[in-house]
Amino acid sequence: MEAFDAVDVIAAKRDRQVLTDAQIDWVIDAYTRGAVAEEQMSALLMAVFLNGLTRPELNRWTAAMLASGERLDYSHLSRPTADKHSTGGVGDKITLILTPLVAAFGVAVPQLSGRGLGHTGGTLDKLEAIPGWRAVLSNEEMYRQMESVGAVICQAGAGLAPADRKLYALRDVTATVSCVPLISSSIMSKKIAEGTGVLVLDVKCGSGAFMEDMAHARELATTMVGLGEDHGVMTSALVTDMSTPLGLTAGNALEVREAVEVLAGGGPADVVDLTLALAREMLDGAARRVEAQGIPGAGIAAGSPEAMRRADDLRGADPVAALKDGRAMDAWRALIAAQDGDPAADLPWAKHTEDIVADQDGFLTSLDALKVGVAAWRLGAGRARKEDPVQAGAGVVMHVKPGQRVSRGDRLMTLHTDEPERFGRAKDALAGAWAIGSDKPNTSSVVMERIGA
Ligand code: URA
Repeated sequence: MEAFDAVDVIAAKRDRQVLTDAQIDWVIDAYTRGAVAEEQMSALLMAVFLNGLTRPELNRWTAAMLASGERLDYSHLSRPTADKHSTGGVGDKITLILTPLVAAFGVAVPQLSGRGLGHTGGTLDKLEAIPGWRAVLSNEEMYRQMESVGAVICQAGAGLAPADRKLYALRDVTATVSCVPLISSSIMSKKIAEGTGVLVLDVKCGSGAFMEDMAHARELATTMVGLGEDHGVMTSALVTDMSTPLGLTAGNALEVREAVEVLAGGGPADVVDLTLALAREMLDGAARRVEAQGIPGAGIAAGSPEAMRRADDLRGADPVAALKDGRAMDAWRALIAAQDGDPAADLPWAKHTEDIVADQDGFLTSLDALKVGVAAWRLGAGRARKEDPVQAGAGVVMHVKPGQRVSRGDRLMTLHTDEPERFGRAKDALAGAWAIGSDKPNTSSVVMERIGA
């Protein structure tokens, strides 16, 4: 005999009532074990989409999703932990650089990632362009690597927030994805379950992101920061620009190459700036966490002189120097090798390329993230269905960014694919993707706003 009737829970939310803790716990659990039907959960999701959840309801909803699976525990580790989550964008290869960069300062990064779906790329697809690299680790391998290398980037196991797996698939087919409480609980249940002590959110804002305007991006960021803090994870967020692609590449191996350039002390300014801003947030969060809670796994007590010394070291960390002097690159090589990848191997190139050139002189005034993302996807860098393969070499290389001058005939972009029949649809996606004007546009910083304590 079930504790509640799904119809009563749906009716309560339809009529704008506040659900009780017991109703929320039951409905998430019963849906996960199959006792609430797909059509009933579809109706409840739509009621939540239309009528929202109060903060206590959302907290409970997230806690119930978290309780549907396991929660990893790194408290025995001899290092503090910090992670970053991005809400997804075009050309976003930051995880590849940021994870080893932060690990180089002795802060362990448990980066559980996903694959790309639609126009945004997935970190695992990018890393799988490296010969031999392995995305799937057991929990024991993760714990060991977190201690030995100080970082993992791997596929989130099926045991983490299984409720989300079902709910996300259902949201996808019921037009209930773009809803702040449902996005927040989905992301945060997985990130809290992952066991990090500090979490920095990169909430993208602009055409290539879920949240196209600042008001919605800010609402999502504030909601997720609140959820993290309420669950004991030190959380902050940067709202960052995703109106134009990040860096000069979108596509798997193309992005790995660009990430390695940044790890070697070079790379495009926007990628470097965002990586540094997120690294400083993670290191600062780790410093605050060490001060407040010590490092139990290293026998360092909260508030002790050793905790204060470690926190000061983290505050004084210089991520710019670590990119220039090879420390971040050493951590990258160790991270890739630990998961059977060959960091020295040549990365694949696509078999065919086609250039897109400027049709007039002037300044590039805009380059639309969504359109470039869709083009890269159609070239074979992304997938339409979860089970589709991706091409390692496919994607878009941009030769100019908004604000730069171009002359008629200059290359704006080069399209890469193994299957030349894909060029046509990719070029269709790029219709109206850029503008060239006579006045130099104002370009602003990639970090738009910070949210958190
Ligand atoms: N990413 C997630 O994991 N969940 C969402 O709902 C949206 C983006």
